[in-house]
Amino acid sequence: MKKWKISAGTASIIGLSAIRVQEPTTTAYLMLGENCLQACKFCAQSRTSQARAHFLSRVSWPEFESSLVAATIADAARQGKIRRICLQVVGDADNWLNTIQSLAILKSGNDIPISVSSCINSADQAQQLFDCGAARIGIALDGATPRIFQSSKHSSWDKRWNLLLECAQAFPGKISTHLIVGLGETEREMISRIAVCLDHDITVGLFAFTPVRGTEWQHRPPPPIECYRRVQVAYYLLRRGYSPDLFSFEQDKLVGFSIDRQQLYQELADGKAFQTSGCSYCNRPYYNERPGQLFYNYPRQLNAQEAVLALEQCRLK
Ligand code: SF4
Repeated sequence: MKKWKISAGTASIIGLSAIRVQEPTTTAYLMLGENCLQACKFCAQSRTSQARAHFLSRVSWPEFESSLVAATIADAARQGKIRRICLQVVGDADNWLNTIQSLAILKSGNDIPISVSSCINSADQAQQLFDCGAARIGIALDGATPRIFQSSKHSSWDKRWNLLLECAQAFPGKISTHLIVGLGETEREMISRIAVCLDHDITVGLFAFTPVRGTEWQHRPPPPIECYRRVQVAYYLLRRGYSPDLFSFEQDKLVGFSIDRQQLYQELADGKAFQTSGCSYCNRPYYNERPGQLFYNYPRQLNAQEAVLALEQCRLK
């Protein structure tokens, strides 16, 4: 019987681990495969990484029998604890077969939506994943520009970007991507890329770069919180329909908005801008932060005090 890795938070919420978590996950995160052939400098699963194989970002991934995972996720879904499954398959030699087989196992006992991130090369493969039951497909950019993509992933931007656009056009509203703040891009570059993705109806899951021991970029610092907060605000306002033309930049940093002050405050006062973004019900607790640390992405609604603090952290004019 195959073994699957699931995030420690997933193991806890579906009852496969006794560890109690402060911030429950609302998505079940699965990571399949090992020995990724890609060489992303920030990723614990990369072929250039010396990190322990059961890490991704700063989350640990214990292993369980696949049938047990599928059945316990189905139970947790029936109880309303889990609302989505995120299936990430690392880019090893068995990637495609592993994806199809695992999707079939998960689909047979579950009717909650499944987001699949695998190493596809064509819209035809994306179609096959939808035919096998995927609700959404993730094609990660990670880097916001060709320059950042090349320097952080040793890979071809054109191929990935064109595939993302092709799939977004073929499957409107069903494609997600990931963007990581802090790989060396400017705020203007990141916000422009988010705006283009939204124009193509691509959902963006925003991450903060997190140095992981054993990776090539283990000593690189995470992005300053004020930078991350500004990108979150810009992303939220773009989702709310505001034009990027209303954003003001100085030396490629976001400094303000041509939006009525009170209206802007009303838009941002509930703190939703600072919650985890991406597929619905994806909250990724502790992907980018340690328990007790300030959240880059809040995995739940913010309280009033947290919302005020997050806004102050933007340091906008
Ligand atoms: S946004 Fe969340 S659920 Fe969607 S692919 Fe990314 S990690 Fe998975």
